[in-house]
Amino acid sequence: MQLARRIDKVPPYLFAEIDKKKKDALARGVDIINLGIGDPDQPTPAFVVDALREHAGNPKTHRYPDYEGSPEFRQAMAQWYEKRFGVRLDPNKEAMTLIGSKEGLAHLIWAFVDPGDYTLIPDPAYPVYKTHTLLAGGTPYPMPLLPENGFLPDFGTIPEEVWRRAKIMFLNYPNNPTAAVADKEFYREAVALARKYDLLLAHDAAYAEMTFDGFVAPSVLEIPGAKDVAIEFYSFSKPFNMTGWRIAAALGNAQAVAALGIIKTNTDSGQFTAVQWAALEAFRHDPENFFGQMNRLYQGRRDVVIDGLNSLGWRLPKTKGTFYVWIPVPPGHTSASFTAELLDRAGVIVVPGTGYGEKGEGFVRIALTVPEARLREAVDRIRPFITL
Ligand SMILES: *Cc1c(COP(=O)(O)O)cnc(C)c1O
Repeated sequence: MQLARRIDKVPPYLFAEIDKKKKDALARGVDIINLGIGDPDQPTPAFVVDALREHAGNPKTHRYPDYEGSPEFRQAMAQWYEKRFGVRLDPNKEAMTLIGSKEGLAHLIWAFVDPGDYTLIPDPAYPVYKTHTLLAGGTPYPMPLLPENGFLPDFGTIPEEVWRRAKIMFLNYPNNPTAAVADKEFYREAVALARKYDLLLAHDAAYAEMTFDGFVAPSVLEIPGAKDVAIEFYSFSKPFNMTGWRIAAALGNAQAVAALGIIKTNTDSGQFTAVQWAALEAFRHDPENFFGQMNRLYQGRRDVVIDGLNSLGWRLPKTKGTFYVWIPVPPGHTSASFTAELLDRAGVIVVPGTGYGEKGEGFVRIALTVPEARLREAVDRIRPFITL
């Protein structure tokens, strides 16, 4: 049996390796504090769960779903974008249901990237943009996200030749893994460049609702003319504690949405209609109030971690979004060695920054997805052996 050569291009999926390390430590009887995985620890709101129970009993939901998503779900997405961002979308042409945004991001690449094409990808970043570019035979061109630039790409450093060969530019704010946020001015620049070089701007807005200290994250689609060049991925996973449900939407440029639809209709058969109908209930039950509750929870955890680490000598600014903290490793360490030391000496699992790209070297990422008491304990456990 011989696998396709493209399989060789895929690095081992990051979380699979961390899972293995965790299992080994658990087998040794270690009390693990797992700050590795960005998966909310709180339950899906009851009104969504109840709605699924009801809709799952309706035989109308039992047949193949509409390929592009149920009209009710797409309508609800368009209404939310108007209310939340002031963005008008045609639910028939500018919105599509996804089986989670990971699926949509991956398939988008197959609709745009031919062998030899470039994609512009942040470094560090969520791995899917890079992996699927490689699978499709394209070349991912890394845009470094550096602390001195507020973890925003410096567009001026990208060579003209790369701009001209790039098909898609991926952006993601609020950002995983750096927790950086972007303002409208940044998106304005990105939209102008996408227009100038005739490329698709794909904005992964997985954390659009997860912000702190009064910061409200904009949508790239708020920029006038953005719909000419941009597609945005909005996910229910993180804001509504629905990672297991696999429900998200692609919104914006009609041509890009249709192209993504060509790949999808030939690959999957859509998300269970009952899940789509249940998900749209989330928008009918005062979502701002729910986001407020969740964000207060994460903000409290953020303060425990950042204040705690700063008391050990770090100088971390308070983050404005996402449930991550991106932590520079102590002098003399690499991402890998610090990750190993935290696991071996403190039983704390973090993700080495290198899992998100070369420019992740020198950082580890923690997720604020465990209760405050455990975060406090994690800080206390590392206190004895940290010298900064
Ligand atoms: C979690 C995450 C996703 C995946 O979201 P799903 O909708 O669950 O597929 C996409 N992008 C980023 C940056 C994420 O952190």
